[in-house]
Amino acid sequence: MWNAIVRTLLEPACASCGLVLERPLDGAVCERCWLGIESVAPPWCERCGDELPGWQSADGLCARCLAQPPLYSVARSAARYHGPMRELVQAFKFNRRRLLAEPLGRMMRLSGADLLDGADAVVPVPLHPLRSIRRGFNQADDLARQLGLPVWRILRRRRHGPPQASLQAAARHANLSRAYAIDPLWSARAKLRGHSLDGRTLVVVDDVMTTGDTIQACSRVLLRAGVTEVRALTAARTTGDRS
Ligand SMILES: [Zn+2]
Ligand SMILES: [Zn+2]
Repeated sequence: MWNAIVRTLLEPACASCGLVLERPLDGAVCERCWLGIESVAPPWCERCGDELPGWQSADGLCARCLAQPPLYSVARSAARYHGPMRELVQAFKFNRRRLLAEPLGRMMRLSGADLLDGADAVVPVPLHPLRSIRRGFNQADDLARQLGLPVWRILRRRRHGPPQASLQAAARHANLSRAYAIDPLWSARAKLRGHSLDGRTLVVVDDVMTTGDTIQACSRVLLRAGVTEVRALTAARTTGDRS
């Protein structure tokens, strides 16, 4: 009955396809879209988590990780950044539908269970403060808070460069390699409390993994600060256009 009332009064729309939801109290996405989300399926690269063609899975690593292993030990994503999942993430990020952090976080907890297991904390990929203010929130932070571990806001975004997606690969590398740093506020507080990053296992959290360069840049900073192992978990990842 409540579903009917909410539906009539508010006409809440599916965050993915925009149709009025039949059962709005069950979630922000209609059943058809929910079922249309494509999870990342094994066999995948044991390091970066990219799907592998069957013939390549014998050594368990993709060509990229074989040639140059990433700094993080393992990366996983809940779903492909495609179809309804792409709509969901964009509605979450750009239309400020922040309640979507809950279902996205649930998916991440499921597909990242082994990765979260035994970790000390999750670390959201930071936005530059200016972008954070403009958007009103950091989507990675919202997701990180859904994962059942302490959230450590260790990193700070230093540069406010052009959005990564608009850059060529080389410019993107240069832009990113200096983009992240340990937040001095975190350092000061950690010193007061006698906390240290030495020997920690941390999980870097973001909404979408595209080239992996962002995760790589964050890993570099964390490892230099004494962290023992960096893992990465994202809600979605782009597939098939990265080699
Ligand atoms: Zn829908
Ligand atoms: Zn790989």
